[in-house]
Amino acid sequence: MSDPLLYNNSSDPLLFNNISDPLLFNNISDPLLSDPLLYNSSSDPLLYNNSSDPLLFNNSSDPLLFNNISDPLRFESMLQCYYWHLRHTNMSYHQASEACPIYDDVLAFSCASNDAKRLDLASFEEVEQDLDGLKLKRTRTGLEEAKATRIQNLLSMSVVAKNRRATLERVEKFISNIYFTDVNLRGRLYPKKAPVTSLHHHCTAERIRYDQAVSREFKPTQVGHNFGKTWSTHWFKVTLDIPEHWEGSEVRFIWDSGSEAMVWQDGEPIQGLSGDTYSRTDVILTKRLDKTQPHHITLYVEMAANGMFGAGQGTMISAPDPNRTFTLSRAELAVLDRDVYNLLMDFEVIIDMAKHISEENQRSYQALYTANQMVNVCDVRDKSTYAQAREIARNFLSQRNGDSQHVIHAMGHCHIDSAWLWPYAETIRKCGRSWASTIRLMEEYPQFTFTCSQAQQFAWVKQHYPTLYQKIQARVAEGQFIPVGGTWVEMDGNIPSGESFVRQFLFGQKFFKKEFGAYCKEFWLPDTFGYSAQLPQIMAGAGIYRFLTQKLSWSLVNKFPHHMFYWEGLDGSRCLAHFPPADSYGTEAKTQDLLKTVKNHKDKGRVNNSVLLYGHGDGGGGPTEDMLERLKRLTDVDGLPRVAMSSPDKFFSKVEQEESSNLCTWVGELYLELHQGTFTTQAQIKKGNRQCEFLFHNIELMATLAWVATRGKDTNRYEYPCEPLAHMWRLFLLNQFHDVLPGSCIKAVVDDALQYYQEIQTSGCKLLGEATERLLSAKSSASVAGAVNTLSWDREELLEIPAGLASKMMIDSSVPQQELDDGTVLVCASCPSMGYAALEAPESDLWPVSVSVDEHQGSVVLENGYISASIDYMGRVTSLGLLETGREAIAPGCLGNQFVLFDDVPLYWDAWDVMDYHLETRKPLTDVSQQVHITESGPLRAAVQVQIPISDASYIKQTITLDTGSMELRFHTQVEWHENRKFLKVEFPLHVRTTEATYETAFGHLRRPTHQNTSWDWARYEVCGHKWADLSEYNFGVALMNDCKYGHCAQGNVIRLSLLKSPKAPDSEADMGHHTFTYAIMPHMGTFQDAGVIQAAYSLNQPLLPAQLPADPDSRSHSFFTVSNPAVILETVKKAEDQENAIVLRLYESCGGHGTTAVSSTLPITRVDRCNLLEEVDSSTALQWEGGSVQLSFTPFQIITLLAYL
Ligand SMILES: [Zn+2]
Repeated sequence: MSDPLLYNNSSDPLLFNNISDPLLFNNISDPLLSDPLLYNSSSDPLLYNNSSDPLLFNNSSDPLLFNNISDPLRFESMLQCYYWHLRHTNMSYHQASEACPIYDDVLAFSCASNDAKRLDLASFEEVEQDLDGLKLKRTRTGLEEAKATRIQNLLSMSVVAKNRRATLERVEKFISNIYFTDVNLRGRLYPKKAPVTSLHHHCTAERIRYDQAVSREFKPTQVGHNFGKTWSTHWFKVTLDIPEHWEGSEVRFIWDSGSEAMVWQDGEPIQGLSGDTYSRTDVILTKRLDKTQPHHITLYVEMAANGMFGAGQGTMISAPDPNRTFTLSRAELAVLDRDVYNLLMDFEVIIDMAKHISEENQRSYQALYTANQMVNVCDVRDKSTYAQAREIARNFLSQRNGDSQHVIHAMGHCHIDSAWLWPYAETIRKCGRSWASTIRLMEEYPQFTFTCSQAQQFAWVKQHYPTLYQKIQARVAEGQFIPVGGTWVEMDGNIPSGESFVRQFLFGQKFFKKEFGAYCKEFWLPDTFGYSAQLPQIMAGAGIYRFLTQKLSWSLVNKFPHHMFYWEGLDGSRCLAHFPPADSYGTEAKTQDLLKTVKNHKDKGRVNNSVLLYGHGDGGGGPTEDMLERLKRLTDVDGLPRVAMSSPDKFFSKVEQEESSNLCTWVGELYLELHQGTFTTQAQIKKGNRQCEFLFHNIELMATLAWVATRGKDTNRYEYPCEPLAHMWRLFLLNQFHDVLPGSCIKAVVDDALQYYQEIQTSGCKLLGEATERLLSAKSSASVAGAVNTLSWDREELLEIPAGLASKMMIDSSVPQQELDDGTVLVCASCPSMGYAALEAPESDLWPVSVSVDEHQGSVVLENGYISASIDYMGRVTSLGLLETGREAIAPGCLGNQFVLFDDVPLYWDAWDVMDYHLETRKPLTDVSQQVHITESGPLRAAVQVQIPISDASYIKQTITLDTGSMELRFHTQVEWHENRKFLKVEFPLHVRTTEATYETAFGHLRRPTHQNTSWDWARYEVCGHKWADLSEYNFGVALMNDCKYGHCAQGNVIRLSLLKSPKAPDSEADMGHHTFTYAIMPHMGTFQDAGVIQAAYSLNQPLLPAQLPADPDSRSHSFFTVSNPAVILETVKKAEDQENAIVLRLYESCGGHGTTAVSSTLPITRVDRCNLLEEVDSSTALQWEGGSVQLSFTPFQIITLLAYL
């Protein structure tokens, strides 16, 4: 201390008390402090020696200081003051005083009385008593005078050694919203509050419109009441009167109902709120209240009785608790102190730098010392000190980066699951809430950019929140609100068929173009559980060459080796792919997110740019004011990557222009090593998806044919059902959302989804019936029995005619037929590619199917001249042989069609996961409740039936059939299923030696290993296949086909089809009940391609359709389309979206080879153009339509779409 006068003359002990050097105590000449009583008269040395806090004494270099104190009370208070000094180095007066009330009182008294003598130690107890009376008279006189000097002195004098952890915790506690809020900065954020003037309420079970809600009767209610039950809606009318003396302040309305809510003002949805997860409870009423603004305000709050993540009972993903109530804990007005807020944000980013920049980096310590210094100068009760603290922050944050620093493209985002732990109807409101909040933030932050996917959600907001939608359109035009993705919803990436993927893009891109004037340039699927290898080609067909996801960071076993790379698909199409290295689509834009982005980036060095997505997601919410304030501060700060508010286009363009030549390529599917249970969970949804995919195919083909057939006519024209079909497609595409089709949703969503499928089936069957009838009855009124083939190859199969219809169809007796037990009539049918034919006697004799019983073995043998199958007493296949070659399909001594049950208890994600260890719990089902018995014995179909118990509650009933002329054994299966965390599969150990299995995927197939050589191999213990999978060796193989299953597992020579799971969360009733499905096994010589496995799997899913044909002898058989190369499949025939006189043909090469084909049609097509998947003409390739045919060249797995003009 250089100036003894400071102490001698000061009447403010503050100066004394802030000194951390104990020596200073000794040198002080202040009469109070030099009072001999204080130091010299201690009668009790124990006071010193008994201290339980060694810190206190260890830091003192002068034992005299403590030994000489004579008054225990005084000593205590001094002790505490000093203790706090040491603990909180450089603590300001107010901090110390708040920490130690006696100290405060001593000071206050001293200041008030200006009488240091009153602090005479002998009368300290009296002083304390006096203080009570004087508290109200406290004054800052003296403090103000000393302040400037004090701060100056604090900075120069109080240099102490520091402990990193203590310092860090100290600064954290200074902004903590949990600890010390009575004395810290956070506690000053809302200096004034006022209750609402009135609060009225009504409850509805439905989600009603605003205008309906406000016209209903509201009744008084109160803060503190509970509102429920789950999924109900509570509308509140809130009146507010802002106190006049709040003028000049930022006034907020605060609402915390522990649930989601939307605030409406003057009929407009102004902001979403959430009171639980991702707390967002403030609505800014005015940034600065002035006289001219209304002080009396009426708001409506639409409170949803669900949290951001629904209402799970216990854990987040537990099935919802139907009886949840939510407490309205806060509804009030408050003033927010913007100066406090700004300082808090400064503190937060600097503290996070101190915490998260590695300790080896001096920048971490610079941040720590800066934050500490800010606390030192910041006196929470003295706002004038804030400026200095902010100045310190500003100096620190304005220290810039070097040129080489990584650049982060920050984009606001709000991942809203279109249905998950809440139903579709709630998602509509989630979109409204989240996007209203987003638009409001855009008004405050003009630099703020926001990426938003899923056309369906835009369509919902357009319908339900039209004024909000207009604001969104305006922000889209300004480039602030950025539509991305190009798809109708963020769909599952494994299960949809190729055509389904195409329609996701077609409906999505058309919507974005129509509503916002442009197609999306990026495919955006951050949260889907794996990505089909055909997506790069399909994206390209929809005009998209960029892809963003992050989900592969969830892989359990292997870390994906790239964050920025080229993704090459099945056909060789490539897109630029980016995984934001923060491994999240919903960061908080915190310092640590920026650091992780660089640290985690697997391709740093190759690229210097990354995306950071920030904003609360899954349940919605989106970016917050805090996130934007953080980013504002972190634009260019030494020690952190640079951050720019950016857009996907800016980011990808930068990489494309400057860095793309450095990138590696990943070939094939993006397999997620987690959530493999989603190929199986919610079997009815999977079945609905598969059935509707085929139904759409049929309707579009038949409607196109009917439309073309009648379009030239003056009367009785058939109108192509554009709008009904589009409506059905939209429902269907919605159900492909990445928590619906995978089955990872609550029961309410499952119910909705199944209802949508039902609606599609009902409307679809009607449309199909109408179209078929119009096409086939167009020429004649008389009719004959026939069959329709909607697939693009000739077929000879059994046609199943339902009981009742058969008698009406008057089938000629020369046609071989067989009536089944249930009245269904089987007939032999021969039907050309995408056409129809009358039922006629086959040209060559049929080889009747036979069934015989081996009494000795208790087994049954089915045989049809091509294959022979031996079935044991419980339906297991002991032998399956190709008669011509004698080749056996079942491994020697093994049993095919063996049902196996696995324990299926995942680590957490119940409906999603099946863990590798489930394979260790394999239990074959070995009981039989009804042994194999013959139910059909030919001549067209032989069948046996068996019933197998799974448990007391569950069983399997199966009919195994062999048809004449067929190469496959079919298993028509019913399961009554009531299990808990069991996984039912059926397995076939095959007489095949191979290291790879082949699985059908969208528009193609791919191979995966059957071994466990590497972690990448064994991590794929459960995989997705579509209609078939195949194990083949040279010249022989066996295909396993199905009509609605997706989960597969091939280990060595054993292939398993996953049938049913039984998770209990988030749907406690998932998959309980009755199931029907069919699978088939097909042994073949040669390759599966040449053997027609691909076609057989289509046929299994799409049987011939019975139909009445015109009795015109010239048209007993007709093919509308033929494809000469069997490797090429004409997948889709439909009317063109936009061109009035054109139809669309979509074909793909299915075998994985180069080839050419002729595509012919009997329709009056005049010319054809190549087009993309959005049906835009590709003029670079000229095609010749001659003689009703066009020649096309295909590369492996290529998709070609044609516009055919009529
Ligand atoms: Zn999601």
